Amino acid sequence: MLGQMMQRDLSIVEILKFAAENHSDSEVVSLRTEGNIHRYNYRDCLVRVCKLANALLDLGVKKGDRVATLAWNGYRHLELYYAISGVGAICHTINPRLSAEQMLYIIEHAGDSVLFVDTTFVPIIEQLAPKLPKNLVVVVMAETASMSNFSNRYLCYETLISKSSQNIIWPDLPENSAAGLCYTSGTTGNPKGALYSHRSTVLHALTLSLNMGRYLGHGMKVLPVVPLFHVNAWGLPYGAPLTGTSLVFPGSNLDGASLYKLIDNERVNSAWGVPTVWLGLLEEIRKQHRAPSQFQNVVIGGSAAPKSMIEEFEELGITVCHAWGMTEMSPIGTQGFLPQSMNKLLSPGEQISKKCYQGRRVFGVDLKIIDEKGNSLPHDGKASGELHVRGNAIISGYYNNEQATEEAFDEEGWFGTGDIASITSDGFLNIQDRAKDLIKSGGEWISSIDIENIVMGHPKVANCAVIAVSHPKWEERPLLVVVSNGKNRVTKKEIDDLLLEHIAQWQLPDAIEFLDALPLTATGKVSKLTLREKFANYKLA
Ligand code: ADP
Repeated sequence: MLGQMMQRDLSIVEILKFAAENHSDSEVVSLRTEGNIHRYNYRDCLVRVCKLANALLDLGVKKGDRVATLAWNGYRHLELYYAISGVGAICHTINPRLSAEQMLYIIEHAGDSVLFVDTTFVPIIEQLAPKLPKNLVVVVMAETASMSNFSNRYLCYETLISKSSQNIIWPDLPENSAAGLCYTSGTTGNPKGALYSHRSTVLHALTLSLNMGRYLGHGMKVLPVVPLFHVNAWGLPYGAPLTGTSLVFPGSNLDGASLYKLIDNERVNSAWGVPTVWLGLLEEIRKQHRAPSQFQNVVIGGSAAPKSMIEEFEELGITVCHAWGMTEMSPIGTQGFLPQSMNKLLSPGEQISKKCYQGRRVFGVDLKIIDEKGNSLPHDGKASGELHVRGNAIISGYYNNEQATEEAFDEEGWFGTGDIASITSDGFLNIQDRAKDLIKSGGEWISSIDIENIVMGHPKVANCAVIAVSHPKWEERPLLVVVSNGKNRVTKKEIDDLLLEHIAQWQLPDAIEFLDALPLTATGKVSKLTLREKFANYKLA
């Protein structure tokens, strides 16, 4: 027997309409590439989104068309998220840090018909111009007055908005209609597309609001350092309006000093991003001898949050939520809030150790770990295997990529993450490594994340990474790459002494190399691929 309830299609633009009605005093504050602050509320945002949607229709954008963006975090980019999906088109966010070759590949693969570009990225488009599809319409996200700086082949964002009506009847769209497209950063092979739907996006926003809700809410301000051009800024463009949280966008200014100033001036409560950006913020906090006022929480994900980073934030009174997810998961999979009842039972040291885990699953995400034969392993904190996931905001295939799709799912239809993990009996996920980053030493595995986590705690280390280098006897051995903190280089003995407090002798890195900075991927994580290439012929003594 079926239930007798209405079936209303879930629709992304409904989130902003709700925010405009219920949270009209919550703001969207943007540090613009022009250098000044722009602010308006969700009601103003909706008015401009309606105008932009009409402008898109006037440009000939139809349901199912892919409309690309190449932009920083700011109000215009947010408007595009809602207007594009609202008219039934697909918002394809392009990561400006991809190589020219990868960018051309995804523009062609996605079949984009219109491209919205921030002024700072116009030079990228000029460089790609000869190879871009001939009929691609390019719109520069700028004021009418500044268009004289650009080729007259380009349209102007503000001109389009100013000419358009705010009256719109949003089309009814089946909730499974595609709404967003984001390509993985392609650390191996060509980038692969995750095609989000209205349904998956709204369900993810609800999950985020529920499970990460203590960092969001009316009167709160959240700063997504995580970019709108990668995995929907972890869902904040939807979760923030839904909960009435004000959004503070940093534009292109992601260094520690700029973030500190913005967080302090705007009284931001929570900021979300990858560990590398927090290294910069912590350095600035040390310089200023105080945390930004009202700053209560950081959400750290994208790669493992080092223990020393979690400790430093917590000592400042800024709680850390360590989260894990993937482009293919919209992206949130787990989050590390510790409930009061658990905190009470744990010493401060044990609480930090618990926060080094990647947290527990959010509602709607199922986790399992499997061995090489595909058997499920127990969640006992000991057994480790490949992590597989399923849920309503997880891809069911890659966009137009049969081969990648075939390889990604197991027989039961779960998605294989490529991460090696264990899960504790109380549900905490412990990511040991990406399968391709594990170091295979004489038939045993060494976790690069474990070593990095410990080494990051040494005062002479500013940043580090561990990679596998080939070894004639053991097949692979760990090489530690260090960026020094200050002039004095850490010695091998100092590192070994520290590591031996936590790991076995045979897991110690065989050597240390020093670099001025670690190479980063397009999503701001340490690029182990680049390091492996750099040290491909490394000879261990
Ligand atoms: P990309 O492949 O473009 O870097 P993703 O952002 O989708 O894109 O990366 C997802 C991967 O990042 C995960 O599979 C995992 O390996 C890693 N990751 C994400 N969050 C964490 C975390 N908190 N700890 C360890 N690894 C993480």
